[in-house]
Amino acid sequence: MKTLTLEQEINPWEAQSARFDFAAQKLNLDEGLWKVLRYPNRELIVHIPVSMDTGKLEVFTGFRVQHSIARGPAKGGVRFSPDVTLDEVRALASWMTWKCAVANIPFGGAKAGSICAPHKMSQGELERMTRRYTAELVEFIGPEKDVPAPDMNTNEQIMAWMMDTYSMHMRQTVTSVVTGKPINIGGSRGRREATGRGIMIVSNEAIKKLGMRPEDTRVIVQGFGNVGSNCARLMAQAGYTIIGIIEVDGAIYNARGIDIEGLWKHRERSGSIARFSEAEEADPAELMLAECGILIPAAIENQITSRNAARVKCRILAEGANGPTTAAADEILADKGVMIIPDILCNAGGVTTSYFEWVQDRQGYFWKESVVNEQLEDIMISAFHDVVRYAENHSVNNRIAAYMLAIDRVAYTIRQRGIYA
Ligand code: NAD
Repeated sequence: MKTLTLEQEINPWEAQSARFDFAAQKLNLDEGLWKVLRYPNRELIVHIPVSMDTGKLEVFTGFRVQHSIARGPAKGGVRFSPDVTLDEVRALASWMTWKCAVANIPFGGAKAGSICAPHKMSQGELERMTRRYTAELVEFIGPEKDVPAPDMNTNEQIMAWMMDTYSMHMRQTVTSVVTGKPINIGGSRGRREATGRGIMIVSNEAIKKLGMRPEDTRVIVQGFGNVGSNCARLMAQAGYTIIGIIEVDGAIYNARGIDIEGLWKHRERSGSIARFSEAEEADPAELMLAECGILIPAAIENQITSRNAARVKCRILAEGANGPTTAAADEILADKGVMIIPDILCNAGGVTTSYFEWVQDRQGYFWKESVVNEQLEDIMISAFHDVVRYAENHSVNNRIAAYMLAIDRVAYTIRQRGIYA
């Protein structure tokens, strides 16, 4: 892979492109398809006027990038954050294409972002921004075109507003236009926990492969949001010992295992994981480097870079977040023998259950939670073994194997369809 400056190393688009180029080259992908798949199909920038509580008008900038619709409608989350960039949304959109292909579900890839500070906005301001944003995207999205979902700082309520706004424009209720909705309006049972559950399922497969058992496996989780908190809870229930949790405002550690149910209650009461009496306070950056069986970065990008990768001491790195490890860090971790479960495999449980939600909405028939979880387990286990087998057969690491498998599947579909060029 080419050498990058630190600024390039932490640019998610560079991180995506470095892996894509390497995998495409390994696959001997022909030059034309390489060009088609390297760049997104479409990128939309919208400027969203919002009437603020002060009575003043503010204008927010939003993006929607559709990387590919070769295998089905574009699919991907909506991120609200002050530092969202078009490059980040581009990278996340292509990761969605590869993730859906690894999970072998019939979607392409997309992502959206709006540059805003959601924690400083009132519910009314958030609702007005979401609705105007959705109205700007109305021709771009739809159940057969592009299906948004929640991501960082967006949730079931935001999805409900998006669904309602789109439906108002269509003059009919269209539940399947977004996923991650409340169950009452077409959401799927099991969706909320699905990404965390998927991480647990692939972690189970990984430890089996390494001859480890949940009871003897110590886990550290970064991020106690939707993905991290559900993952920690499910893994604790499955017998893993969660020794550390790292959040934006501090970290906690207990060598004997943190009581995750107690931590959930503490966080509900206090709004933070800090000052939880049954664990010690720890330094967040140091805890990322503590010895453990499984490290699960489940917060944001670029947490393991060329600066700290050599000091990481986990046996397995299960990437709950998108892009937590840079391409330069991959090489250092490979030399250390860390087994990586790459993001496009590891956190695919969310989009897989979003696929189930879309299917249920279109069928108008809703499954029991046990059915959702069983189907999820089937898909995640197959995807894990597809990637590991691919890695073994092609003598590459799991990350490159996941990219190669995904690119291979998308390229095969494009060749079958032919290119309208
Ligand atoms: P979230 O907003 O619910 O949670 C993120 C958590 O990370 C928050 O609690 C936040 O305080 C914490 N955090 C932020 N910066 C941090 C830092 N520097 N150190 C420690 N903690 C930090 O978001 P989420 O939905 O849980 O998503 C987390 C990651 O997982 C993102 O990369 C997202 O793209 C990815 N992901 C989410 C889903 C899903 O279903 N929600 C699916 C696939 C991938």
